[in-house]
Amino acid sequence: MTSQLYGIAASDGIAIAKTYRLENPSLEFEKIMIAEPGPEIERLQSALAKSTAELELIKEQAEKQIGPKEAAIFGAHLMVLSDPELIGPITEKITTDHVNAEFALHEVAEMFIGIFSSMDNDYMKERAADVKDVRNRVLGHLLGVKVPNPGLISEKVIILAEDLTPSDTVQFNPEFIQGFVTEIGGRTSHSAILARTLEIPAVVGVKHLMENLEDGTVLIVDGIEGKIIANPTKEELQHYGKRKEEFAHQKTQLASLKDAATLSADGVEVELGANIGSPKDLNSALENGAEAIGLFRTEFLYMGRDSFPTEEQQFEIYSEVLERMGSKPTVVRTLDIGGDKELSYLDLPKELNPFLGLRAIRLCLEMPDMFRTQLRALIRSSVHGNLKIMFPMIATLEEFRQAKQLFVEEQEKLAAEGIPFNEEIEVGIMVEIPSTAVMADLFAKEVDFFSIGTNDLIQYTLAADRMNENVAHLYQPFNPAILRMVKMVIDAAHKEGKWAGMCGEMAGEELAVPILLGLGLDEFSMSASSILKTRSLISTLSKAELVTHTEQILSLATAEEVKQYVAGLVKH
Ligand code: PEP
Ligand code: MG
Repeated sequence: MTSQLYGIAASDGIAIAKTYRLENPSLEFEKIMIAEPGPEIERLQSALAKSTAELELIKEQAEKQIGPKEAAIFGAHLMVLSDPELIGPITEKITTDHVNAEFALHEVAEMFIGIFSSMDNDYMKERAADVKDVRNRVLGHLLGVKVPNPGLISEKVIILAEDLTPSDTVQFNPEFIQGFVTEIGGRTSHSAILARTLEIPAVVGVKHLMENLEDGTVLIVDGIEGKIIANPTKEELQHYGKRKEEFAHQKTQLASLKDAATLSADGVEVELGANIGSPKDLNSALENGAEAIGLFRTEFLYMGRDSFPTEEQQFEIYSEVLERMGSKPTVVRTLDIGGDKELSYLDLPKELNPFLGLRAIRLCLEMPDMFRTQLRALIRSSVHGNLKIMFPMIATLEEFRQAKQLFVEEQEKLAAEGIPFNEEIEVGIMVEIPSTAVMADLFAKEVDFFSIGTNDLIQYTLAADRMNENVAHLYQPFNPAILRMVKMVIDAAHKEGKWAGMCGEMAGEELAVPILLGLGLDEFSMSASSILKTRSLISTLSKAELVTHTEQILSLATAEEVKQYVAGLVKH
C-alpha cells in the first residue's frame, strides 16, 4: 500500500528507486561447546574466504572511486585477514577448547585489540581498529547477517539509514546512489551537506523510518518538499516522473549563468563560492560556476583511512585544488574534527556534549604537532594558487592568536629552510560561536577576514542541536538574534577594511539571500548545487532597495515575521 512519510528537505531533486537499508546488524552470538572441530574450522575458513573476496572488491572499487591512498585502509584489512598470527590461534582455540568459531574469533580478536590499543604507539592503535573491523566482517559471515558495504552498491538505489556517518557517505557512488533518507539529522548535518555537494536528493529527520520501510521497497524521495512516498501508485509515479524532468530542465536553463558575474539588479557585484570536502567536489563546483572556494572542509582528508595524512600527502591535495582554481580565491579551513566527525585512529575521550567539547581548533591547539603538519602543507601549497586559511570554532581571541602564532612559526621555519611560499596568505576565522560574533569588533582588528558559519552559529545561539530533528523547529536561521549577529560581524569587518563572507548553508537559502545582500555580505559560499539558483536570484534583487529594509527586518520579533516580510520582497 502506498504511504507517505515527512521529514526535512535536505537536498533538492526527485529520486525514484528501490530502497537499500544501511544498518549495522546485531552481531550477537552464544558460546557453544562443540564435539567435532572439523566442521567449525571449515565454517571459519569459508567466512574468511568470503570476507577476503568482499574486501578485494571494495578495495578495487574504492581505488577507482576515491583513489588509491584512501583505499589503502582496505589493504590493511586484507593483511589482517591473512595474518597467520591471528588466524592460527583462532583455529587452535576451536580445536583445543572445543568452542564454536564465533566465540574463538571473538576471544582471539579481543586479545589483540586489547594489546594493540594499550600500546603507546599510534601505528599499533590503528591496527587495533583494523582488527575490530575485520572481526565484525568475519562474524557477519559466520552468522549469515548482512554487513553493509555502501562502496559495493552497483545498482540504482535509495539509501535508508538511521544516520549516516561521513565515512559511510564518502564511499557513495552517485552513479548508483539516487537519493537517501535518514531518521536522524537536520538540514545542516554533514550527510545533508554532502548530499547537496553530490547533488543527490535527500530527506532527513524522518521519524520511524527504519521501522516502516523494508529493503527493496519502491520509493520516491522528494528532496524539495521533504517527503517520501513508499509503494507509489501509478499516478504518483507519473506525477513525480514529470517533476523530475522539470527539475532537470530548470537545471539546464540555469546552466547558462555558469560564466556570468554575480550582479544584483542595480549592478552591485558579490562573490559566489562553493563549499567542498575534497578535490573530487571541484568538478561540480566549477560546473556550477563557482567564483571561489569559500570553504574547503579538510577533515574529509583525514577520514576513511587509518592514520593521519602526512605533510606530503596533504601538500599534494591542497596544491591540486589550488592549481585547478587558478587565481580564484580558495579558502581552506584547518581541521575541524570532533562533534559529529570522528576519526577511527584518534582515540578521543567520550564526551557528554561533543559539540561543546574538544573539537576543531581546540583539538588542534592540544595536538600542535598534527596542526603544524597541516599548516606547513598549506603554506607550502600557497605557491600554487590563491590560498586563504581560516580557523574553525574560534571562541576567544587567545585561540586565534595562538593558532596564528603557530602559523607564523611554520612560515619562519620554511623560510629558513629556503622553501618558497606566498608571504601574503590571508588568515581569517570562522564566526560560528556567539562569543566571537559579539566580539567581532576586536577580532576584526587582528584577522584578515571573517566567514560566518551559521550551521553552528545557529545551534549555539538557540541551543538547538543541528543534528536533532526533535528541536528542528528551534533551529532558526531567520531568528532576529542570528540576523543581528550577522550584521555585527559584517559591520565590524567593514569598519576595519576587511571582508566578510558566509559559508554556512544559510548563504544559499532563497529567503536569506536578500537579507544578506542588504546587510552588505561580500562573499556567499554554499553547496555547489545552490550557486546558479542564487546567481539568478541576486540578478533580480536591488541592493540599494534592500538596504532600506534592513532596519525594519532587524526590528522584527520572530523568525516567522522575518520570513513573511522577506517573502514579500522576492519577486518571482
Ligand atoms: C558552519 O558551522 O556553518 C560550517 C560551515 O561548518 P560545518 O558545517 O563544517 O560545521
Ligand atoms: Mg561549523
